[in-house]
Amino acid sequence: MLQPPAAPHAEASAGSARNKAFCKMSGEAPPGLEGRVRKALRKVFGFESFKTSLQESATVTVARGEKDVFVCMPTGAGKSLCYQLPAVLAVGITIVISPLIALIQDQVDHLLALKIKACSLNSKLSAQEKKTILADLASEKPQVKLLYITPEMAAASSFQPTLNSLVSRNLLSYLIIDEAHCVSQWGHDFRPDYLRLGTLRARIPRTPCVALTATATRQVQEDIVAALKLKQPLSTFKTPCFRSNLFYDVQFKELLTDPYTNLKDFCLKALEVKNTTGVYSGCGIVYCRMRDVCDQLAIELSYRGVKAKAYHAGLKAADRTSIQNEWMEEKIPVIVATISFGMGVDKANVRFVAHWNIAKSMAGYYQESGRAGRDGKPSCCRLYYSRNDRDQVSFLIKKELSNIQEKKGTLKDSDKAVMTAFDAIVSFCEELGCRHAAIAKYFGDDTPPCNKCCDYCRNPGAVKRQLESLERCSNNWSRTCVGPSAASWDSYDPELYEGGRKGCRGFSRYDEESSGNWDEANEENRKREWDNFYKKQMSLRKGKEPEKEDFVPPSAGCPLKDASSRRISKLTVKGREHCLKMLEEALNTNQKVPAAGGEDDVQDQV
Ligand code: ADP
Ligand code: MG
Ligand code: ZN
Repeated sequence: MLQPPAAPHAEASAGSARNKAFCKMSGEAPPGLEGRVRKALRKVFGFESFKTSLQESATVTVARGEKDVFVCMPTGAGKSLCYQLPAVLAVGITIVISPLIALIQDQVDHLLALKIKACSLNSKLSAQEKKTILADLASEKPQVKLLYITPEMAAASSFQPTLNSLVSRNLLSYLIIDEAHCVSQWGHDFRPDYLRLGTLRARIPRTPCVALTATATRQVQEDIVAALKLKQPLSTFKTPCFRSNLFYDVQFKELLTDPYTNLKDFCLKALEVKNTTGVYSGCGIVYCRMRDVCDQLAIELSYRGVKAKAYHAGLKAADRTSIQNEWMEEKIPVIVATISFGMGVDKANVRFVAHWNIAKSMAGYYQESGRAGRDGKPSCCRLYYSRNDRDQVSFLIKKELSNIQEKKGTLKDSDKAVMTAFDAIVSFCEELGCRHAAIAKYFGDDTPPCNKCCDYCRNPGAVKRQLESLERCSNNWSRTCVGPSAASWDSYDPELYEGGRKGCRGFSRYDEESSGNWDEANEENRKREWDNFYKKQMSLRKGKEPEKEDFVPPSAGCPLKDASSRRISKLTVKGREHCLKMLEEALNTNQKVPAAGGEDDVQDQV
């Protein structure tokens, strides 16, 4: 173990006489730890305030240096500040592990612009640059405050003497693991080298460790804590996923007599269209998986009185921009789009997000539906669920898995994670329970107070009845063949999907940062594959399950009546059985019912 006595951190002696006097004179916060944090926020980083109270409490906790800290906030929430500011206040050096040299360079440039001494040790440096940095680190009072390295560098034997020297001289203030989801095979960016950071962390148990990520699923979080050996009690700062202003509901498409009208009514209600004025309030997004469905749906909605336009990668770039602008400026209230729409679109008054097709993952659905109600006002999120749709996506995922398996001979947990993520959204649709609770559970949060902000909490009986109807009307075949309700990994059979396109690219990830990766052109191909598969299965099915065939009885003109005919074309086994049954019934009835003319007549007839 490398660790010397406690590492030096920002002094935490709040409330000295000097501090109190300062406070009285200046009217500012006392220059204890929190005061120093606020001062550095303004003077060093140039921010008037913290972005959120979560950012503030995370920063202050890290600055105390007493515990390991786990920070989980969405991209752009300002996670870097949570360790950069404490690093500036600390006496020693902070080592930051980051997965990409490009990311590291951005951070270092940003810090240098703020006149904070930061540098990076990486394979791209010249020998001279490396020498200068190592010399500084070896000096009695190093100038560097933040040292950024890749996980590979952290594990490299050439780096160990520097690390040992910093630790033995009590100069290591913090170990920071940025983009910490890279330790998890369930994350979208697994990096084997991140796993080795657990060993590094174990060698310096007294140095506080801070792990940061935007990936919020419970599984990934558990992996991070375990793999990095984060010390308990751990301080966790996590943006809660609960959005109290969003109303979630699921509609079973197969049970709707007119899904288009249902969607139209939903749009109008969410947009609060005043019948007399026809004035829309805010706007909405309808997500579809396929481009042609976007086009069609936009027409159907417009035809029913809701102005809508389609947006997808099949349109010319100029058209896409102008449609997006029209929507941004609220000239058209509804955009019907593939998931390529919405990344980086920040519109506050999106009153609804409808999914015409099931999302590819729970995280994807949460992110897409979360574009509603950014202004905090009541907004609606509706998912149109259909088991046929579920089976399609399930099929496509399995197909892609089989392609990967064929190509690489094996599947990683991260490949299988795609199926698990999809199972979660299927369960969200098919399980009885609060929708907000289901989302929170997926992201490892406590059950939030839904307060009748979902269909289940508003009317559990109705949701239960709907689900029962769905169960009744559901086709048994589709469930047993391709899509069990939890389209579980165990049911995956690569043999079933042979003959796919070879050399297919690896999986798209459907997590919060890359839900647009599932490219649309590819999607069209997949849809065609599904259609072919479906047709093939339907034709096979005819032989296997004759009772479900659309049986047409032989017509009156059928030569069956001709006693001499022996070969009757188009007369199926089913048709013969049908005729035999009719004959038996006729004979039976004839036997039981006495003819009107009495026994004699019968005798006569015989
Ligand atoms: P994350 O790592 O969570 O994705 P960053 O740390 O890169 O986010 O920060 C995102 C942006 O927010 C940066 O431009 C950063 O300068 C800015 N930022 C961070 N904290 C604050 C703050 N307190 N006030 C204003 N802007 C901030
Ligand atoms: Mg970041
Ligand atoms: Zn609820």
